[in-house]
Amino acid sequence: MSTPHATQVRGDHRAALERSEPFDLLVVGGGATGAGVALDAVSRGLSVALIERDDLSSGTSSRSTKLIHGGVRYLEKAVKTLDRSQFALVRDALHERSVLIRNAPHLCHPLPLVTPLYSRLQVPYVLIGLKLYDVLAGRSNLGPSRFVNAAEAKRRFPQLKAEGLRGGVVYYDGQFDDARMNVAIALSAAERGAVVLTHAEVTALHRDGGRVAGASVTDRVDGSVVEVAARAVVNAAGPYVDGIRRLDDASAEPMLTASSGVHIVLDRRFAPPDTGLLIPETDDGRVLFLLPWLGSTLVGTTDQPAGVVDDPQATDAEIDYILRHVARYFDLPVGRDDVKAAWSGLRPLVTDPKAADTAGVSRDHVVHVADSGLVTVAGGKWTTYRRMAADTVAAAITSAGLRDVPPSATVDLRLVGAERFDPNGAAALQARGLAADVARHLHHAYGDRAGMVADLAESGLGERLAAGHPFIEAEVAYAQRFELALSARDVLDRRLRLGFLDAAAARAAAPRVEALLAEGMRPRA
Ligand SMILES: Cc1cc2nc3c(=O)[nH]c(=O)nc-3n(C[C@H](O)[C@H](O)[C@H](O)COP(=O)(O)OP(=O)(O)OC[C@H]3O[C@@H](n4cnc5c(N)ncnc54)[C@H](O)[C@@H]3O)c2cc1C
Repeated sequence: MSTPHATQVRGDHRAALERSEPFDLLVVGGGATGAGVALDAVSRGLSVALIERDDLSSGTSSRSTKLIHGGVRYLEKAVKTLDRSQFALVRDALHERSVLIRNAPHLCHPLPLVTPLYSRLQVPYVLIGLKLYDVLAGRSNLGPSRFVNAAEAKRRFPQLKAEGLRGGVVYYDGQFDDARMNVAIALSAAERGAVVLTHAEVTALHRDGGRVAGASVTDRVDGSVVEVAARAVVNAAGPYVDGIRRLDDASAEPMLTASSGVHIVLDRRFAPPDTGLLIPETDDGRVLFLLPWLGSTLVGTTDQPAGVVDDPQATDAEIDYILRHVARYFDLPVGRDDVKAAWSGLRPLVTDPKAADTAGVSRDHVVHVADSGLVTVAGGKWTTYRRMAADTVAAAITSAGLRDVPPSATVDLRLVGAERFDPNGAAALQARGLAADVARHLHHAYGDRAGMVADLAESGLGERLAAGHPFIEAEVAYAQRFELALSARDVLDRRLRLGFLDAAAARAAAPRVEALLAEGMRPRA
């Protein structure tokens, strides 16, 4: 069982890392994959340390399209190649879609999307494809796909260009807040006893009798080094997995290629509040999503081969590519001044030497066990993080020869915030005097813990951090005390998401956030 109101401050986790007894599992990387592995393992009764070099979700996992999906593009590929394994990939991901929504209903929800069609010839192709999507989802389906005429497509997505519109296909997928989900997974692991240390880097791996047996962890806050012993080490470093493999074996062949995907954020005028848009064909034969997200409009993504760098940036060319496609499908003018934020993420893709371009590489995951016993998990996608984790922990158990470990128990494990989540809970927050938009935001971001944030707001931390956004000061204190946040960026980018929604507003709010964090560091009387 979890400990619902345990304080989660970094100092406690730092102290718990120093112990003479080896951990069963040391996990490198606190993205979706590593956090998922930590939760799977600790909920099976294993002792776990999760080490993240920067912040939880600071890598690819905060930079996704925020769709919980089987992947209509992968379905198209499956149909074109009649590849059974591709169909299975889509089916499994669609099953996971419903598991995620069930286990974190405050952070995930179904979202209808319109695919606009400007040629009658497209109608049967798209409709049959999306009907097949429904069939593959089976009992996990979120709603039936159906054709709508031009007037209905325009009613559902009023910004669409009317000229030449023949109709559309409406279908359903899931949508979520990726970084908060990542934090919720890691906190769920921490509340079950996992040590979760952020801003700490695995800088060396150690062997004992030829087997990997632990790591040197450099604390990036004070520069100290902790030697951590472990029966198994899992490498979940996302785009950096090859670097970790080379710490174990300097001659390890690369497993991954990376491609960058850029998103831009526009204001709420560009999408209705409850419906997304799938642009079925871009200039380079991809799809583009335009989605309402946290009161703004998220548009992406691109796919460009890329090198592995920290904090990749969106280029002008990538931003213009996205804007060009929005303009093509919209009656509303759109330009550079409308872009509130842009970010780039690196897709960690399993290398397939036969693939001509990265869009052709499979998103399925690979769990690789080296001769030393180092377990590397790579590829996959957010939607399937839980299944990847279960496979990885199973491999680690075998590799380390751990006995009597029960099977994965995460399929029915409600994440932090979900256990007593009341879908109608926003009204109770509003009744405590919070503005309607703030109440709605706290309700979805914190689920059954929103009341704790409201308590902090009532203690004098009720001011907004940025005009026009629902984020309040109380969330900074909450992030610091209960969500392992350390820096202003941890708070603004990955606990509140302001940095991803409105870069200028986040810059303006940063000094206040820093002051609140400094205040929180002071010993209390
Ligand atoms: C543009 C884009 C859009 C996407 N959209 C979707 C989507 O809509 N739906 C979906 O299901 N999937 C989507 N994905 C895929 C999904 O985001 C990724 O599969 C997933 O986030 C990968 O998570 P990860 O934990 O493996 O990697 P990461 O999130 O990158 O985590 C790896 C972590 O390891 C840490 N690390 C590295 N080296 C060390 C070290 N030495 N010591 C300690 N820590 C270390 C890093 O700091 C990082 O935080 C998208 C991906 C991209 C790029």
